[in-house]
Amino acid sequence: MVDLIPSPDTVMQILKRTGAFREGHFVYPNGKHSPHYFQMPLAFRYYDTARVLAVALSRKFRVDRDISSQLPKVSIVSPSSGGIPVAFGVRDALSAQQIYWAEQEADKRRFRQYVNKGEVNPCIMVDDIIRSGMAIEETVTLVKSLGARIIGCGAIVRFESAPNEIEGVPIKSLIEYDVRMYDKEETCAECKEGVTPEHVRF
Ligand SMILES: [Zn+2]
Repeated sequence: MVDLIPSPDTVMQILKRTGAFREGHFVYPNGKHSPHYFQMPLAFRYYDTARVLAVALSRKFRVDRDISSQLPKVSIVSPSSGGIPVAFGVRDALSAQQIYWAEQEADKRRFRQYVNKGEVNPCIMVDDIIRSGMAIEETVTLVKSLGARIIGCGAIVRFESAPNEIEGVPIKSLIEYDVRMYDKEETCAECKEGVTPEHVRF
């Protein structure tokens, strides 16, 4: 089963082909500069690509005995809208019972679904990309407040600067990306070369 997981190179080719990964000169909303840009929903606009990525991630969960032994009474949880297609794809591959997704509401992250304590199955958290890990951490707090346990966590891409485990659970990913980020223009290699920057929304 593990042999069927596409290599990081293959996944990267998919992200490049769909426009989900680009190289150039980008300025993020927080003012940081980078020569790389991930726009993961572009990969998830093609159903076939979305399925390949989600199934690949699901296989990393399936080989985990703590997870496979609890199926199908498992919840797949997305911390944000970007993870929703990942959650549905992983749910499909694992035949898990429940799916939840959270949204940022004013000051805190909440589940979109009205849900009572004790109703949420043991959780696998999934996202399209883990940049800082903050969304995942906030969702862990939410899941625990509902009395549920975290049994797995993963994303298509994880920045190496993000945490590699949460609540003692290792974070699985198809790509571990060593991101280059500059705090300001003066230190940005692309600025020095005079490459026109592109301002991005996310
Ligand atoms: Zn720059």
